[in-house]
This record gives sequence, C-alpha cells and structure tokens, in this order.
Amino acid sequence: MENQKILHLTNNLNSQSKIPAVFIDKDGTLIEDVPYNVDPQLMRLTTGAIEGLQLLSKAGYKLIIITNQSGVARGYFPESSLVAVEARLSEVLAEGNLLLDGFYYCPHHPNGVVSEYAIDCDCRKPKPGLILRAVVEHNIDLQNSWLIGDSLSDVEAGKLAGCKTILIAHDHKPNLQMSHLQIPHHIASTLSRAAQIILYDEHNFQI
Ligand SMILES: [Mg+2]
Ligand SMILES: [Zn+2]
Repeated sequence: MENQKILHLTNNLNSQSKIPAVFIDKDGTLIEDVPYNVDPQLMRLTTGAIEGLQLLSKAGYKLIIITNQSGVARGYFPESSLVAVEARLSEVLAEGNLLLDGFYYCPHHPNGVVSEYAIDCDCRKPKPGLILRAVVEHNIDLQNSWLIGDSLSDVEAGKLAGCKTILIAHDHKPNLQMSHLQIPHHIASTLSRAAQIILYDEHNFQI
C-alpha cells in the first residue's frame, strides 16, 4: 500500500480510538478543601463523588485529576508529598471499583519561595497546560470531554483547552466582572449532579 494511504488509515484509526475524559479538580470538587493539605489521613471525598465518578466511568469517560499545588512553590511541602496524595486518591477510588486514569498537578507559583518552582508556568490553572498534556498522553477526545471544578479558574482552564465545563457551586452569583471564559456551561451542587448533567447532555440520559 502507498505510504499516503497507510498514513490516512492510521490517522483514521487514531481518531477513532480517542477516548473522552472528565478532567476533575481535586480540592473542593473531588475531596473537601483543606488548604495545602498533603496528609492522606485528612482527605475526605465530597458528597456524591464516588456515585458521580461511577456514572462517568460506566459511560466510558477517563477520569483525570487536574490540580494546582502551589504549596510546593510556596515551600509548604516537597513535591514528593504528592506521591502519597495520588496513592490515597487511587485507593479510595479503587474502593468504589474506579480507576484513576491520570493525576496532573502544577507545583509552580510566580511568587513562590522555592526558586525552581517560582515561575510563571503554562500549567497553573486558569492556564490549560495540564489538560493539554493529559490530552496528548492519554489520546483524549477533547471535543467530547468535560472539566468539573469549583472555581472560576477551573472553568477558564477547561474552556481554554476546548472542553465543556461544569462549576460546582451552591450559591454562585454571576457578576459583570466575569470574563466569558469564566462562565461555565452548567452549574451543579455536587459531582454526582455534574455527572448526571454530562450524561443527559451527551447521551440523552434521563435525570
Ligand atoms: Mg478547587
Ligand atoms: Zn505549573
């Protein structure tokens, strides 16, 4: 077969094998927000987290965590502490028969005190760098992917990357200072509700 044809077939195969993902913020979305915590014992899942992730996993979405961890740059904990954080998250998800497909963190902050991390990087949300790295490394179908987070910088990162977004919020009040990149596609009170919205939106699943 001619090389051109082979290339064409390979490209088709690649696009067919792309898998949609849900990119999930960690603190305040998947687990309760304990600022700068890296102690696995203090990590508590949010209400509805496992139920929501089970719905998404069954529907075929990869589950990928995207988290800012500027505590590294601020000198609050070493980057190596995040190994135990990821391990604990994998463990609690496994208890719900769930596989954590990816754990991406940004250790940077421009005003950090640890010089190697004190940079203006391209991966701290609202920048989309972590999401885009996950897309390449996991062959993600970005157009059919979603981001779920509890802050406007999560929403902005998701929209900049090119996926749909859900803001986890209880009393969200839009204001005129918000840029269009900070306006989520949907708002939900829990991860479980967010999962239902995704299934309804993409698969006409009845809520
Ligand atoms: Mg958060
Ligand atoms: Zn970064």
